[in-house]
Amino acid sequence: MRTETSCVHAGSRPDPATRGINTPIYTSSAYEYLDGEARPYPRYFNTPNQLAVVEKLCALESAEDGIVLSSGMAAISSVLLGLLSAGEHAVVQDEIYGGTHAFVSQHFRRLHIDFGLAPTDPDALGRAITPTTRLMYIESPTNPLLSVLDIRAVARIARAKGVLTVIDNTFASPVNQRPLELGVDVVVHSGTKYLGGHSDLCCGAVLASRALIERIRGACLGLGGSLDAQSCALLERSLKTLSLRVERQSANALALAQLLQGRREIARVNYPGLPSHPGHAIARSQMHGFGGMLSFELAPGQDPDRFLHALELIRPALSLGGVESTICAPATTSHSKVSAEVRKRLGISDGLLRLSVGIEHVDDLEADIERALAASKR
Ligand code: PLP
Repeated sequence: MRTETSCVHAGSRPDPATRGINTPIYTSSAYEYLDGEARPYPRYFNTPNQLAVVEKLCALESAEDGIVLSSGMAAISSVLLGLLSAGEHAVVQDEIYGGTHAFVSQHFRRLHIDFGLAPTDPDALGRAITPTTRLMYIESPTNPLLSVLDIRAVARIARAKGVLTVIDNTFASPVNQRPLELGVDVVVHSGTKYLGGHSDLCCGAVLASRALIERIRGACLGLGGSLDAQSCALLERSLKTLSLRVERQSANALALAQLLQGRREIARVNYPGLPSHPGHAIARSQMHGFGGMLSFELAPGQDPDRFLHALELIRPALSLGGVESTICAPATTSHSKVSAEVRKRLGISDGLLRLSVGIEHVDDLEADIERALAASKR
């Protein structure tokens, strides 16, 4: 099945009692056991609604198996704790979601897991591998600078040294990028973003081979971040429109990036779909579309605060990936837990704005940005 068809049909379990065409919501957390068969239990990740939505995600990410969890960070922390032990080493891309960066820096040392941070470059990540490295953690395009990493090259380098690769595919979504097909071992998602897509759901997902999911599931059972039936059903419903949403978001984002680029009120635009983006050629070779996220810096004569207050349609809000356009300043939101020193090293200035483009009509979004640019002069 093609992506659009998998979004609608994969994993669906029509109701055998009524012949309703949607997967029913199975609310039970207790299942009779006396006939000796293994029975579902929500924290074992084997209830009907968990299995239905995992099957759809597997079809979308070309994975054999998966787990849905109660947040993106539940997915990320469970994978890292499931695959790494004390005394082992991980190579971690420096430019990643702030919460992941903070989790690694705050907790790995305490757990005696060694790690090295490396820039968004395959050779630099490869050079950071040591004899005890077991895992490499990457993200592309990155949050919030939209840098692009050559995923095939990283996967090849890591595999040659027996190192597992884990990628956060939240920004691209499986509509635009399928990392397992590029050689990566494990995909993680904040499903709170594009997978859910309506800013009303908090969830996460892990997708990989059957063998790796078995290893990760061991940690997940103990850490306990399972997703309840209602949320699974909401996620399954949302995924049916994933490709439609992401295609529109990607088209709108390209139009807005083109509008912002070259304007005297704008100092810099980061969007992998622009030919001027340093990762454009690699993005073309590994992505099907360039995504709905972009970031930009206003020129010195403009005031970011005035810009944010002048917007009438695009909402200054946390999170991303919803049908509605939202905007935030990463230094005070997604990356506030990353130290000012690290933010400076990564190029996340206080004036950087990250735009999550929704599915509205592009003319209305452009008019909102024009209005805010005019109002943001100091
Ligand atoms: N990964 C990325 C790229 C994110 O942007 C986020 C949240 O902003 C996360 C992971 C964490 O996801 P959650 O908030 O669902 O735990």
